[in-house]
Amino acid sequence: MSHPLHNVLVVEDETAIADTVLYALRSEGYAARHCLLGNDALAQLRQQAYDLVVLDVGLPDMSGFEVCRRLRAFSEVPVIFLTARNDEFDRVLGLELGADDYMAKPFSPRELVARVRARLRRAGAAGAVAEAAGWQQLGRFAIDREGRRIRFGEQPLDLTRYEYALMAALLQRPGAILSRAQLMDRGWDSDADSADRTVDTHVKTLRAKLRAAGADPDPIRTHRGLGYALEA
Ligand code: CA
Repeated sequence: MSHPLHNVLVVEDETAIADTVLYALRSEGYAARHCLLGNDALAQLRQQAYDLVVLDVGLPDMSGFEVCRRLRAFSEVPVIFLTARNDEFDRVLGLELGADDYMAKPFSPRELVARVRARLRRAGAAGAVAEAAGWQQLGRFAIDREGRRIRFGEQPLDLTRYEYALMAALLQRPGAILSRAQLMDRGWDSDADSADRTVDTHVKTLRAKLRAAGADPDPIRTHRGLGYALEA
């Protein structure tokens, strides 16, 4: 069990294939989950951070390409496509969508696991380089906590102290809903009375800056009565 922290999502409607892949991944120590449909996979990927997605191109509700296109709106997670036996894999489209690799069925589960391992190693190496420079990459965001700086894509965000504190708190737990009180705790001192409005005001200006930096759709989600969450 050398890499228990790596979560892999397998999206495949043929349960026999899915079972084989899940078994192969789990016996190599990966945490692997399974979705049958594209829509379920997208919901799952919004909820939880995965390190890699194994994605069948021929799904019943939408194509794997479409899943990948929608996924790229909120995540840069590596994707390995699975394609049907006789289908010519559209490499250009795959590349455009940021697919990292593909395998044609029938494939050897061991070969797939080897590709998963290789891809995760590359991602790990890239992460290590970013960390060495003080930057931590989180989806399309990068944060330098010591330097109190945040980037979206390649674009540095010009944030006030409060906006930075809000964004840093959201980035600490992508996908989790943080209440206004929790966001206040991390950001600044103030009396509880004005706290909620203060948070809302700063979220508003933060959103405008994110939009200006090209973050569309809005990565900050409002959960009515609960607080805010960053798209995982
Ligand atoms: Ca299929």
